[in-house]
Order: sequence, then C-alpha cells, then structure tokens
Amino acid sequence: MTIQSIIKKAIKRLELEGKSLTPDFYAESFCKEAKKAGFSVDDCSHVKKLSTTLNSEFQKELKNYHIKTISELARFLISKLNRINPTHCSSLLESQMLFTKRVLQVVEVLHNKEASELARKSIDLLNNEATSSQVDQFRQLWINFITSYDDTFLQKLKVLGDIDSRNLKDSIENLHINSSDKLADSMELSSIASLLVASLVPSIASSVNDKIADISQKIQKNPSLLESVSVESEIKSVISLRIALDKQSVKEMIESLDGVLDKLSSRLIDMIESSDNSTAEIQKIKTELVEYKEEPISNFKAAHKKLYTIAVALEENTKALSNNLKDHSGEVKLLGKKIELLEKKLKAAREESKEDFLTKLYNKRALDELMDTKEAEFKRYDHNYSIVFFDLDFFKSINDTYGHDAGDAVLVAFAKILKKESRNVDIVGRFGGEEFIAILGETNADGGAIFANKVRNKVEKARFRYKEKYIKITVSCGVCERKTSLSLQNVIKTADDYLYKAKKNGRNQVVQK
Ligand code: GH3
Ligand code: MG
Ligand code: MG
Repeated sequence: MTIQSIIKKAIKRLELEGKSLTPDFYAESFCKEAKKAGFSVDDCSHVKKLSTTLNSEFQKELKNYHIKTISELARFLISKLNRINPTHCSSLLESQMLFTKRVLQVVEVLHNKEASELARKSIDLLNNEATSSQVDQFRQLWINFITSYDDTFLQKLKVLGDIDSRNLKDSIENLHINSSDKLADSMELSSIASLLVASLVPSIASSVNDKIADISQKIQKNPSLLESVSVESEIKSVISLRIALDKQSVKEMIESLDGVLDKLSSRLIDMIESSDNSTAEIQKIKTELVEYKEEPISNFKAAHKKLYTIAVALEENTKALSNNLKDHSGEVKLLGKKIELLEKKLKAAREESKEDFLTKLYNKRALDELMDTKEAEFKRYDHNYSIVFFDLDFFKSINDTYGHDAGDAVLVAFAKILKKESRNVDIVGRFGGEEFIAILGETNADGGAIFANKVRNKVEKARFRYKEKYIKITVSCGVCERKTSLSLQNVIKTADDYLYKAKKNGRNQVVQK
C-alpha cells in the first residue's frame, strides 16, 4: 500500500467517524490507518517515546488524560510547568496554611476537650515550621481522633428532652426552658423533705400537734408534694402553728418562773422583816420586791430584772446576816464548845448506861457483863447457873395490828411480869427487840424451866391493855444450864437453839436441855 492510499483512507475514516479535518484528528486517523497497513511511522510513536522519558506519575496522568498527540503532550507539559512556577506555588501553600490555621482555631474553640487540645497543638506545630514527618504524625492524630470519636454520651441527655447532636446549642437552650421540673426532681426532694419535717417539730413546746404530725408524715411519704401549691400553703400554716406553739410554751414557762420568783421574793421579804437588818439599802430592795409582786411578768426581760433584784436582796441579806454572825461570833464559839462538851458527856453516859431505855431492865451490855461474872463464879466456885431465853410470839403482827406504840407498851408490860416473877438475886434483862433473858444463879435446867413456865403462864393469862384495847400475847422459851455445857457461849447458843425449837413446836411453850 502506498502512502497516498493510506492518506485517503485516513480522510475517509474521519468522514465515517464524523470528525472534522483538524491536524490532530488527521494525525490520529493517519497513524491508525498506517498501523493497519503495517507501516511504522516515526511521527505516530513520538508521544509514546517521549512519554517514556517522563516520571511514572506523569506517565499515569498522560494515560488518564488520554494524551495521544504531540500538541496535547505539549499542552500538558506547559500546564505542568505553569503549575510548578515557584511564586505561585508558595503563595498557594501560604494561603492553604492560613486556611488550615483558621480551621484549627475554629476547632479549638468548639466544645470538645480532645479536639481543642489537638487543634492547639497543631497550630503550634504549624507556627514552628514543622517537618513533613511531624505534619504526617499530626495528620495521623487527627485520623485517630475522627475514627475514635464517640458522641453516644449525648444519649444520656435524652432523659431531659430531645437532643440534636448536630445542633447542641439550640438543644441545650430548649432544655433550659422546659426542664425546670426535672431539675427540681434532681434536687433530691426527699432530703429537703426530711429537713423540712425536722424543722416543723416545735423546738420549745413539748407536745407535738396533730396537724404538724399529719403534714410531716405526708411530706415524708411523698416528697414530691413539696411542689404542689396546696401543700405549700399547708406548710405555711403549719409553720405559723409551730411558732405559735413555741410562743405559748415560752409564755407558760415565764409564768411558772414568775410563780417561783414570787415565792422567792415573799420568803426574802419575810426574812428581811424578821431580821434586824433595817438599813436603808435593804428596805429599798424590800419595797422593790413588794412592787414586783403586784405586776405579773410576761417576758424574759422583766423576769431577768426581777431575778436580779432578788439576787441583790439575797446578797445584801446574807451580808447583813454574816455581819450579825461576826458580831456574835464570840458567843457562838462558846456555845459550840459547850455543845461539844455536852455531846461528849452524853456519849460517855450512854456508854456507861446499863439500863434498857424502854423497859428499865438490864440492857444487852449489862447482861453480857453479868453473864461474864456468873461464868467466873462457875469456874472458881463451881456455882451452876441457867440461862432462859424469852421471845414474844408473833410480835410483829402486834405492831402491824395495833401500831408500834402498842408494841412498846406490851414490851414494858412483859418486862414487869418478868421482873415480878423473878427473885431479887435473879438477873433479868432485854437482850434486844422483843427478846429477853433471865440469868438464874444456883439454878439447874429444871429450875430454869419452872421459872420460864411461870412467866409463860402469866403472860398467857394476862390481858395487855392499850388505849381501850386488850391485846393477847404468848411467849416461847429456851432453857440451858451451865453444868452440862462446855462454855458460856455454848450455854447461850443452846438456850437460843431450844427457843427456836419451842417456836417450831408451836410456840407458847418452854423447851429445855
Ligand atoms: P416469832 O413468833 O417467830 O418470834 O414472830 P415475831 O413476829 O415475834 O418475830 P420477828 O423476829 O419476825 O419479829 C420481831 C418483831 O419485834 C419485829 C420488830 O418490829 C419488833 N420489835 C423489835 N423491837 C421492838 C421495840 O422496841 N418496839 C416495838 N414496838 N417492836 C419491836
Ligand atoms: Mg425475835
Ligand atoms: Mg418473837
């Protein structure tokens, strides 16, 4: 095939494809037909050859732009050259840098702590001419931020109302308007309720009013009632009630205090009147006290004044009294000494006394001494003796029925019988309470029992008279002689044991060893 026929075919091809006969379209069509005809035309592979001399990135771009002709290649390269114009590039970079910084400043003021911090650090980095690896590092940090960003926390706010996560500002403003109820809820109404209930209890008045108790219980059970208007007015009225109760209590306290003060001042007035203290000062206080009695007090101030006057009066009066005492201190001292002496004498007399104050028989101390003498005589001269224990039966019930004075009278009457029935040489005495003993010299147990029975008989038959009343009593007795015993203590114990036996056997009897 000749070059002319290839040219013809190329023009035909353009006609068929509907393309106009421009140099570029013609060249393209010619190269295709030449290739078809098996011709290798240098001009057709110019673009390919030249493109292999470019770097791989440019080669890719050439492919993407479908650059096929030399003029296209020339335009591509010119545009590239224009773009790498250094002044244009740096101004572009500069404006991009400024733009990036502005964006970062915006991010910094947005309400996210991590984003703000990262933005601030990024701005610092850009301000300090970062290396490309540092920029890369920050780019990675921003990627981390955006991939791990989690706004599910906003869902927590859902309880307060609708939240638009793309418009938090409006959402929060709306919340502010319609969330007052919920905020009040979160103020822990229950703890406010407890505080309120505690403050409703009267602090001075001791009694708790039913109305206060009712409302307290209501609020305690249901703290949300605090929001209701009707309960609010109820609380107000209960507070005034509580104040009224406290006021009333204070009033009553002052009145009772006034009563005490009145009594105190009356006493003081009496004291001043009965003492010789007639100084003008004291008389003045007395008049003041009398005046106070006329007007009842109703407040603390008046009570305080009254109390103060009383205190002054007391002070004055005690001062006067102590002066008086000082004047008579010599006499008082002398009298004190006399009393001391008399007390000593009385004590000695009491100690020496051998007589029972009620029955006038020997008392226990005298009986102890006399028994010791009897024991000494037994030991030296072998003189036997017996001891009889007497104990009045059911004596307690006599006291209980007729009174203690009647009991005393019976004791005196019994003592008389005992004395009368005994011989001159016999020793009879009161051992304590309603217990008596007889120490019978030169007498054995049988003799002792005879004596005891004599007394017992007399008592049984006697009618004790006290204030028109006749009292019947009996006595139980225990007897023991010395000869059959080991010691005086033994005799005493045995006589007592036998007396116990007599009681146990039915009373009103004598038991001997
Ligand atoms: P019992 O038959 O068991 O002896 O009964 P009782 O009630 O006599 O015996 P108890 O020992 O229980 O009570 C003795 C009472 O004697 C109690 C006490 O009040 C009374 N008493 C003691 N000394 C005197 C006194 O000096 N005068 C008066 N009136 N009573 C006295
Ligand atoms: Mg007794
Ligand atoms: Mg008795």
